[in-house]
Amino acid sequence: MIAEKMKNMVANSSAIRAMFEEGNRLAGIYGAENVYDFSLGNPNVPAPEAVKTAIKELLDEDDPVALHGYTNSNSGYADVRAAVAASLNERFGTHVTEKNIVMTVGAAGGMNVILKTLLNPGDEVIAFAPYFGEYRSYTNNYDGVMVEISPNTEDFQPKLDEFEQKITHKTKAVIVNTPNNPTGVVYSEGTIKKLAAIMEAKQTEYGTDIYLISDEPYRELVYDGAEVPYLTKYYDNTIVGYSYSKSLSLPGERIGYLVIPDEVRDSEEVQAAANVATRILGFVNAPTLQQKVVAKCLGEKTDISFYDRNRETLYNGLKECGFECIKPEGAFYLFVKSPVEDEKAFCAAAKKYNILIVPGSSFACPGYVRLAYCVSHETIVNSLPKFRELAAEYFA
Ligand code: PLP
Repeated sequence: MIAEKMKNMVANSSAIRAMFEEGNRLAGIYGAENVYDFSLGNPNVPAPEAVKTAIKELLDEDDPVALHGYTNSNSGYADVRAAVAASLNERFGTHVTEKNIVMTVGAAGGMNVILKTLLNPGDEVIAFAPYFGEYRSYTNNYDGVMVEISPNTEDFQPKLDEFEQKITHKTKAVIVNTPNNPTGVVYSEGTIKKLAAIMEAKQTEYGTDIYLISDEPYRELVYDGAEVPYLTKYYDNTIVGYSYSKSLSLPGERIGYLVIPDEVRDSEEVQAAANVATRILGFVNAPTLQQKVVAKCLGEKTDISFYDRNRETLYNGLKECGFECIKPEGAFYLFVKSPVEDEKAFCAAAKKYNILIVPGSSFACPGYVRLAYCVSHETIVNSLPKFRELAAEYFA
């Protein structure tokens, strides 16, 4: 007999995962080369060579007992945190030190640690649709209440009027994710400034603290020179969650970090609580070998020219078929308008051509579908005739 709360979680379990399994099933029947699986954000560019070199060096040269042992602090190795902090200061002009950094089990681990740290039951967490569906589960894990801002389908920047109206005295956190999964949109500096001003005013109005949580695993995946503002500069109560899953193609290694700057209200208490949350959530500490690896690879990133080429080919190809979609500036997703209102029916139609795509309702944005283009270039090129056939079902 599983817990009631888990029953709901299982029932709503990610359509994305289900799609992934369907991809494997279809590949078994038709051959992998005849299946166009755009369902999962699993990077297909290998990790930079420097990652392999770092792992080998660490295994050859470091004391194995220390390398594979528990870390002294649940927040991670002090030297790794200091190196991460120095890199942030250099790139973003921040003033953080090792005490502001908590190494985490990817972005997912980081989000759970910070929500565990901040939420009392009934506290509200705001997210802008479309958003990564797991935020709902993470919030629910700590008995928080997810409050959704409806999508702005013009350009997928957040709807700030609605945001202002939906902040209450119970609002404890606001999650932003830019570059965004599923739209690939980067929130502009203008948007960030307005969002920060609204949050400042609401904190004053209610006499509360409202934390801005910037979930940014796609920070480095941007195209055409797009700038991604570093949010700690615009709003004091900002906590950043980062991950190397996408930037170094290490999703299975589970490594990332939280930044809790001194400007955050009661920063030391939040840092100490995040340290304890890391332990009591059962992570204990982020994987030690990977902490050392990322510290050696701070200047590295994945080859984004590969994703950029995929982005151009898929975006142009779909537009030529008649599909509507905004051109993403970051991440590796296209968010395409479904030609029919019921986007799940559209996903089912696509499956007839062995095209696997994810319904927008998984991201609180029905009427759209998400395509993850972190696939081989051939998959994209070979899928386009199939998309043309699919389009012919809808467009004259
Ligand atoms: N946040 C967003 C927006 C994501 O898209 C993902 C993964 O796809 C995650 C968090 C979780 O990433 P990680 O592998 O770092 O836990």
